[in-house]
Order: sequence, then C-alpha cells, then structure tokens
Amino acid sequence: MKTEIAVIGGGASGMMAAITARKSGKEVVILERKDRILKKVLITGNGRCNITNVNADISNYFGKNISSVENILNSFNPQDTMDFFNGLGIMCNEENRGKVYPLSGQASSVVDALRFEAERLGVRIETEFYVRKIEKEGFKFKIYSEERKKIEAGRVIIAAGGQSYPELGSNGSGFELAKELGHSVTKLSPSIVQLKSEKHQVKGLQGIKTDVAVTAYGDNKKICTYDGELLFTDYGISGNVVFNISFVMPLYKNVEFEIDFMEKFDYNELYEILKERKKMMSHLTMENYFNGMINKKLGQFLSKVSGIEKLSKPVKDLNDSEIRKLCTVLKKYRIKILDTTGFRNAQVTAGGVSLDEVNSETLESRIVKGLYFSGEVLDVYGECGGFNLQWAWASGYIAGKNVAK
Ligand SMILES: Cc1cc2nc3c(=O)[nH]c(=O)nc-3n(C[C@H](O)[C@H](O)[C@H](O)COP(=O)(O)OP(=O)(O)OC[C@H]3O[C@@H](n4cnc5c(N)ncnc54)[C@H](O)[C@@H]3O)c2cc1C
Repeated sequence: MKTEIAVIGGGASGMMAAITARKSGKEVVILERKDRILKKVLITGNGRCNITNVNADISNYFGKNISSVENILNSFNPQDTMDFFNGLGIMCNEENRGKVYPLSGQASSVVDALRFEAERLGVRIETEFYVRKIEKEGFKFKIYSEERKKIEAGRVIIAAGGQSYPELGSNGSGFELAKELGHSVTKLSPSIVQLKSEKHQVKGLQGIKTDVAVTAYGDNKKICTYDGELLFTDYGISGNVVFNISFVMPLYKNVEFEIDFMEKFDYNELYEILKERKKMMSHLTMENYFNGMINKKLGQFLSKVSGIEKLSKPVKDLNDSEIRKLCTVLKKYRIKILDTTGFRNAQVTAGGVSLDEVNSETLESRIVKGLYFSGEVLDVYGECGGFNLQWAWASGYIAGKNVAK
C-alpha cells in the first residue's frame, strides 16, 4: 500500500495530526498497533477527559530546551482546542483551576468525535499495525509492521506516545523507531504518578484520605506547593495532590515533601486551638485528643511522631513544648520521597525525542527530511490538569499542518 502521509499512532496527537493533514487534501493513513484508536484518551481524567486547561502556557511544561516549543503552544492554544472540539459538537465546560472537560462528562464523547471527524474526512485507519521498522529510501519511507506488512509513504509523523500505561498502546516503541532513524532520546522517567516513601513514615495509614497542602523540596530548595486530596498507601502516597506535584520527580534529586494537614489555620491559630482542646478534653487520653479534628488513626500517628510515646498519656498532662511539637508535625510533616511507582502507573513519560533535533516551527526532524514528531514521544511533559492533552493537540496540529505543505 502507498500513501502520501503515514501517522504512526492513533492516539490524541496522531488523530489531531491526521485530521489536520487530511484537511489540506492529502492522503493520510493512521497506523495503530492496538485493535482500536484512542484507547488512552478513553480513560483520561478518570473517564471524563480533562481535554485542556485554559491557563496552559509554557510555564506548565518541562523538558530540555522546552522554551523552543513556546511558539507551538501559542500557535494552537487552549481556546483553539476548545474551538476545534466545539466544532465537532463537544461542548467544553471549564471547571476548577482552569480544567476543561466535555459537558457530557464522558471521555468517550471525545473519542467518538475524533473518530467521526476522521471518517468524515476520509482518513484511513489501520489498526493492529504495530510499526517495528521505518526505512528512508530516497524520498520515500518504507514502514514495516511486526508481521512484515509494508506501507510506503512520502512523509511520516511519529505520534507513538511515551511508555506509560503500556497496555493502552504506547510502550516506548516510538522512541526506538526515532533512534533507528538517527535521533537521540533524553532520559525517560515516569511522571504524574504515585510516589514511594520510607515505609515507617506512612506505616498504618494505608487507605486514609485527607485534604492537605504539600510543599515539595528538591536539591535542598523549596520548589512548589499544591493542595488537594492525599491518599496514604502501603508503599507511600497517592491522590490528586501527589499526581499534581509528582512532576518534580524527574527534575530534582533528594525530593522531600512537607505536608500541612491543617492548611485552614496558621501555626499560631493552631497552637491556640490545641491549647483550648487540652482544656476541653482534659478528661481524655491522647488516643482521642484529635477526635473530630483529623482522621483518628492519623492523629494518633502524628502524636507519636511528635514524640508522645504513649497514647495513654492524659491530655491534661500535655505541656507547652509538646503542644508546639504537635503543631509543627501537623503543619510540617516531612517525608522523604524515594521513587515513583514506575511507568506502568504513570500518566505521562518525562523525556523523549530531543527537541534540539526537531525544527521547532514545523516539528520536522532536522536529521531525516519528511519525518515529523508530535505528542508525548517528544521531550515535553506537562503538569497534571489538562496540560498534556493540550500539548498532544497543539503539536499534532502543527505537525499535521506542516507535513501536508
Ligand atoms: C490514566 C491516564 C489519565 C490521563 N488523564 C489525562 C487528562 O485528563 N488530561 C491530560 O491532559 N492528560 C491526561 N493523560 C495524559 C495524556 O493521555 C497523554 O499525554 C496523551 O494521550 C499523549 O498523547 P499521544 O498521542 O502523544 O500518545 P498516546 O495517546 O499514548 O497515543 C499513542 C498511540 O500510538 C500507538 N502506538 C505506539 N507505538 C506504536 C507503534 N510502534 N506502531 C503503531 N502504533 C503505535 C499507541 O497504541 C497509541 O494509540 C492521562 C494519561 C493516563 C495514562
């Protein structure tokens, strides 16, 4: 089979690239290794698809030489994403912190809309075509599947994603294809992911969910603070706030989190509250001192961390120094982050095809003429909150527009 343009990967970015290229009248084939396209998009945003974020700009993204893609993010911005999807019948609904979802609340609407648009335009979709090799011969590319099926294309876009959630399709093979064509790939790490901590720092807390503010420190510097829900697990921590802040992991060494369990109150207010509780609960022991204020098990755990050895200690015996230590632990519980839980659980892959080797206006390779890249396969990743799909749409649009020129 022959085609003018082949897009490797029927994910978010590949679909946007294919639709955009096809609108210029070119023949486009999508080669997708799974039995269906857009498998990952279907589970994004807990099945609701956080399609973009109205606040997205270059400051939300990371990667070596990240500033080079600022013009791409500006050329196809969140409003362009919303206009594009509105044009396909997806009504966009802005929620908290600029996060945009389809009003239907279903990621499947986004999948359907992209599929219908590709069909309407006549984009060919070849599923179960696992691209294992791309060769450039003269002005043509020869693309081989695992079963040695062959397609010839004038131009190629690699939109094969990263290597997180490999069962949904993106298993890192895009990086291998890029490397075989002469590209370099920067260090790959999981991001937007659960984190492992030292076991004793979360022992017995498994299953407890609580709203907190977390400040990340790395290389002995304060990096950022996020608030949201924290979930303790047997290996460490998870929950929204952890996903949001986990982007620091590929960027810094010696990462520590400082957890504020009492964000509502500053230190002095908390001190007064604890003193008042000492009076109010003078007939109880430390086992119940935090009853109604913080999760019971967590309160008991933090009491011990603060140095109170026995929960049988009468509340009336708390001294001023102990109350101050309790305040400090409640406001500044430090935990050391050892690692992530790996690519299998990570929403995105940090690292990818080096931006130094890609034309930042067109996303064409500087090494192989006629070869383009888009989406997560490139060394670009964003914070949690719609930023990664925004990159997939924006880069897909730019690659699709330029590949068709
Ligand atoms: C659980 C989860 C939730 C997420 N939620 C959000 C969210 O709400 N908002 C947000 O902005 N981001 C979210 N993300 C991140 C976002 O989904 C990705 O950043 C985005 O899908 C990347 O798009 P892509 O097209 O580059 O890659 P992908 O969507 O991964 O698509 C790549 C495609 O290429 C195919 N492929 C790979 N290799 C080959 C090959 N060799 N031959 C043929 N086909 C191949 C794959 O099967 C896949 O279909 C989430 C991710 C996960 C895992």
